Amino acid sequence: MYDVAIIGAGVIGTLTARLLSLYDLQVCIIEKDGDVAMGTTKANSAIIHAGYDAKPGSLKAKLNVKGNAMMEQVAKDLAVHFKRIGSFVVAFNDEEMARVKELYQRGLDNGVPEMKIINGNEVREMEPNLSEDIIGALYAPTAGIIGPYELTVAAAEVAVRNGVELKLEHEVESISEEEDGYRIQTNQDSIQTKVVINAAGIFADAIAEMVGDHSFEVHARKGEYMLLDKSQGNTVSRVIFQPPSKVGKGILVTPTVDGNLLVGPTADESQKEDLATTQKGLEKVLRGAKRSVPSFNEREVIRSFAGLRAVGSTGDFVIEEADGLKGFYHAAGIESPGLSAAPAIAEELLRKIGDVIELNKVENLNLLRKPFKRFSELTNEERRELIKKDPRYGKIVCRCEKVTEGEIIECIHRPAGATNLDAVKRRTRAGMGRCQGGFCSPRVVDLLAKELDLPMEEVTKQGSGSYLLVGKTK
Ligand SMILES: Cc1cc2nc3c(=O)[nH]c(=O)nc-3n(C[C@H](O)[C@H](O)[C@H](O)COP(=O)(O)OP(=O)(O)OC[C@H]3O[C@@H](n4cnc5c(N)ncnc54)[C@H](O)[C@@H]3O)c2cc1C
Repeated sequence: MYDVAIIGAGVIGTLTARLLSLYDLQVCIIEKDGDVAMGTTKANSAIIHAGYDAKPGSLKAKLNVKGNAMMEQVAKDLAVHFKRIGSFVVAFNDEEMARVKELYQRGLDNGVPEMKIINGNEVREMEPNLSEDIIGALYAPTAGIIGPYELTVAAAEVAVRNGVELKLEHEVESISEEEDGYRIQTNQDSIQTKVVINAAGIFADAIAEMVGDHSFEVHARKGEYMLLDKSQGNTVSRVIFQPPSKVGKGILVTPTVDGNLLVGPTADESQKEDLATTQKGLEKVLRGAKRSVPSFNEREVIRSFAGLRAVGSTGDFVIEEADGLKGFYHAAGIESPGLSAAPAIAEELLRKIGDVIELNKVENLNLLRKPFKRFSELTNEERRELIKKDPRYGKIVCRCEKVTEGEIIECIHRPAGATNLDAVKRRTRAGMGRCQGGFCSPRVVDLLAKELDLPMEEVTKQGSGSYLLVGKTK
């Protein structure tokens, strides 16, 4: 019998598990896919929003501003990349300038610090590559950028190290109420738990329906992106938004924490499994991005991808106990700014759970993660030291991103370690560079097979069924 079962290993589920892992509780995370961060958390803009977008008084507004303020410490404790680079919402005409001023007022109402409105010349002084047509902008220095899956992997790592059980490839199929809690039937086992946290992203409504709760719906709204090579990473040094529309925050241009340039997203109604990019969508992204930043080189695009917003029917985050279902909590409708708000949402869930189960801290446990050192970010002196201790850190496997054999082996054996090709990629960046894994993928497959003691043919791209190889040719 578990005390708490969390459905969904996205940023919300794992950060909540990390907080719960400090207490004397049996906790598990149930995830249908082959790794953490495989849902919306893996494909988004990766912005820690300042907090001027959401309607004042909403949970989105409150938890965005709180989460933004918490992110520095969370990122430090988890040793993940986070940069508070600030953001602009740029305006090209008087109508957009009026919208920018509305956002400024919203920001003030939401308690966003340090914002100011600046004119076109000031904008270009700070960001010389922005369009000559921009007449002004809202500047919010507290906005930041983060690695969403790095954050999620790190949170899962701490949770698992502290005793949380991570059940990957476990898809929840039904849930029934029992006298002292709930029974969750997955495709692999049957789990009893006192408390359930529904953090299932775009499928949170399907999970709610399993216990007869039809109080909200979640539909998918697709966002398509293009990622550009690091050669374009310095085109802007802040997040550049255009004024938001009813369906999204508009096309943005931003550096990523890893030094690439990201442009997108679109905002189109979609099916829940549809992650395809389209010519129409990507053309829209390019047109939109070029409007703000005309000079980036679109020939340097190395990847396109899409993410699905979990748009809730209530218009706000649903973070509450389900009506009439004691100990069954939803974290649903967590669309943007869900990543920014995630640390605050996790705290909110912990506080609520404290009403139904006792939270007694266990001694000697903490929320800190042992840093994962990237060879590419070390000084030559540090590299020499590392190679002296373990020569596998002297063998480069991914040439584009300078990832070593030592790092790949380490990421497989850490808590919540990588078990497939994409999981290695998300933890080490092997395969994220210009050649997109063309060179290193076979070598990573080989290392996975050796370290996990599997035949090579059984190594997958991203978990169950996604085989890469069919057999030996010679
Ligand atoms: C295009 C786009 C841009 C965005 N940009 C930003 C941004 O810049 N800043 C920001 O703050 N937010 C942004 N967001 C929002 C942010 O990405 C999300 O709020 C956040 O990732 C939600 O995390 P989650 O854990 O709730 O959901 P998810 O990451 O989707 O996790 C849910 C998990 O539940 C699992 N699951 C579902 N059903 C089952 C089942 N039956 N059994 C077991 N497991 C199940 C899924 O596999 C998944 O792993 C953006 C979103 C999109 C789509």
